[in-house]
Amino acid sequence: MRQSFTYSIPESLKAEDFSVGDRVLVSFGPRKLIGVVLDLVDESELDVEKLKPIIELMPQESKLSKQQIDFLSLCARYYHHPIGDVISQALPVLLRQTKSVDLSPEPCWDVNPELEGDAFKQAVSKLPKSAAKQVALANYVVDKKHLTWPQIRMAGFSKAQLNALLKKDLLVEGLLPKEIFNYSDDCVNHDDKPQLSIEQSVVVSAINNQLDQYRCHLIDGITGSGKTEVYLQIIEQVIAQNKQVLVLVPEIGLTPQTLSRFEKRFNVPVVLQHSALTDNDRLQTWHRTKQGEAAIIIATRSGVFAPLLKPGIIIVDEEHDGSLKQQEGFRYHARDIAILRARQLNIPIVLGTATPSLETLHNAQTGKYQYHQLTKRAGQSQLAKIELIDMARQQVEFGLSGSLKKAIETTLARGEQVLIFLNRRGFAPAITCEECRWIADCQRCNKPYTLHQNQGLLVCHHCGSQKRIVRQCGQCGSPRIKPLGQGTEQLEQRLADLFPDYSSVRIDRDSTRRKGELAKLLQQVTDKEHQILVGTQMLAKGHHFPDVTLVAVLDVDGALFSYDFRAPEHMAQLLVQVSGRAGRESKPGKVIIQTNFPEHPLLQDLVQNGYPHFARYALMERQQARIPPFGFQALFRAEANYPNMPESFLREVSQGDFAQCLSMGPIAAAQEKKAGKFRYHLLLQAQERKYLHLAVRQVLANIEQSSLQNKVRWTVDIDPQELSW
Ligand code: ADP
Ligand code: ZN
Ligand code: ZN
Repeated sequence: MRQSFTYSIPESLKAEDFSVGDRVLVSFGPRKLIGVVLDLVDESELDVEKLKPIIELMPQESKLSKQQIDFLSLCARYYHHPIGDVISQALPVLLRQTKSVDLSPEPCWDVNPELEGDAFKQAVSKLPKSAAKQVALANYVVDKKHLTWPQIRMAGFSKAQLNALLKKDLLVEGLLPKEIFNYSDDCVNHDDKPQLSIEQSVVVSAINNQLDQYRCHLIDGITGSGKTEVYLQIIEQVIAQNKQVLVLVPEIGLTPQTLSRFEKRFNVPVVLQHSALTDNDRLQTWHRTKQGEAAIIIATRSGVFAPLLKPGIIIVDEEHDGSLKQQEGFRYHARDIAILRARQLNIPIVLGTATPSLETLHNAQTGKYQYHQLTKRAGQSQLAKIELIDMARQQVEFGLSGSLKKAIETTLARGEQVLIFLNRRGFAPAITCEECRWIADCQRCNKPYTLHQNQGLLVCHHCGSQKRIVRQCGQCGSPRIKPLGQGTEQLEQRLADLFPDYSSVRIDRDSTRRKGELAKLLQQVTDKEHQILVGTQMLAKGHHFPDVTLVAVLDVDGALFSYDFRAPEHMAQLLVQVSGRAGRESKPGKVIIQTNFPEHPLLQDLVQNGYPHFARYALMERQQARIPPFGFQALFRAEANYPNMPESFLREVSQGDFAQCLSMGPIAAAQEKKAGKFRYHLLLQAQERKYLHLAVRQVLANIEQSSLQNKVRWTVDIDPQELSW
């Protein structure tokens, strides 16, 4: 609901006990719900006698701060999204519910204090050879304090392994002490701290000299240039002031490897917040952040709402990454609101990436953000060379060109690893009839089903619907059904056939569905159990595999001819990121891109001149077209069971004069039908934000009046990232 509600404070409760941000229990219709106090007033235009009284004031330790309410209200206004839903995004699930919650200390684990130093090592060495994971866990715990279950699990260990070590008295279980974080000298481990390069030290000191105020910094550093090291050395200064650090990473960027770098450097309470946490873990994380117990909070998108007690700095790693934008419900961009929040808190914010989004780059070029560059790789490693392979001139087998096959062979023969990137899950993106060319379509989306051979299923990647693999053509009845095209599942099999002496592993959403599986597979890659890695964009980012020296991208052509003006930008970012996986240490790397359009100017520009050149050129194009970041957009989406409904709805609500704001549409969405619904767009675009907001408000007011508002489902998306929806 787009409104707030007024309640009275009953005699039984004291008015002076209430403040903004309190959680309260109220009756709402027939139900009891949790409400959050937005404001306290002495008078109301409503009939005071008729106001319902608040039933109960919930415990203070579960309330939001005034400062947080201010921030959330700002977000609600910016995104024209109901404040209630915005607040509920910021609250852990358990605090949205009326049940009372348990905020007593969590369990944690430490090395048994009776086994000091060598005694522990000896005990570990006596563990049986077969218990390699137990040994690894013991080694992981050894120089850390008070490890929590989310940390242990994230590091790739199981409850069974933990219990085994407890039973053998190597570890002891305790309760996490509830104390506010307090810096001391042993909080930083200087052992593996490298000497910064000149470029790195320039950035570190520039930022460290301005820690006491708002400033947005962009670190534009090529892959492997040591951005993470720069973050670590900035964080060191911030925690030394007893302030908290919030690090936002893309969903897939939060790997055990990232975490372990933070844990190795800092001997401070680190909390994690990501989608795989249980509700209770989430609550505990929230509470430890709010009480100031946690010094470093590493989180995916929703961590931007973390209830920091003593905020010191926000770091947004891979600021260009699409997963920072929420694509449903409250469609916020975590990077953008992190900047709003930093400004409100008057603290610095650091955006880091090898491939800045054009929005961010523009803000850096115009001086709104402070621009820092890292142009050289850290340590010994060299940036990989990119080579385009013209598929038309090649013999192709299973989607692999002859040249690529040869390159894979020689890389493997040198004992190095190969990463093959194909952004398509499943066995094949379609199945077809060899006689009549029929394709098995999802009726609800009018799009081909993807074949998932391992599961024996056809899955629609648009709506998620599934069915058993069909054995006969749906049109002519022929049994000559065959897969069309290739996905990662098939590629993995083919590679096993082509290179039988080597082991391959597939890393995509299907192969990592089970908890802990991703960590396990990544560890196997690091341990060189596999020589060939096949994966989707999950593999593109963040990971650091020292022995991968060849990266191949099988299919980039789709993005060259997309309807979305951001597609080339995203493709370029992805190519640079995957390329960044090659040759990360002393061995030189190589990148091979297979394409049918090697002359395409976009690919040529990227390969010949690199991302910075590509980005500058792309910005010029955007400027001429007056599209973001040189204009601001809002997208209204509407869907319904019949195509005429969303269309007439959007037509109706786009009536009126929009000063200084263009209204485009309604038009059918690029994917007009999905999950049985017909989808239409209305795009608003203005040269100034102010006018965009006015127009959005006008449309929202029209929607209030529309008779169709309950027959269609509609959403508004401010600064939409995907127009193809
Ligand atoms: P990025 O985050 O820019 O991709 P990383 O911070 O992961 O780069 O650094 C890449 C590698 O270089 C890591 O193994 C890191 O430990 C190492 N490294 C970073 N800075 C230095 C330095 N100043 N000297 C030596 N090695 C470094
Ligand atoms: Zn479907
Ligand atoms: Zn047929």
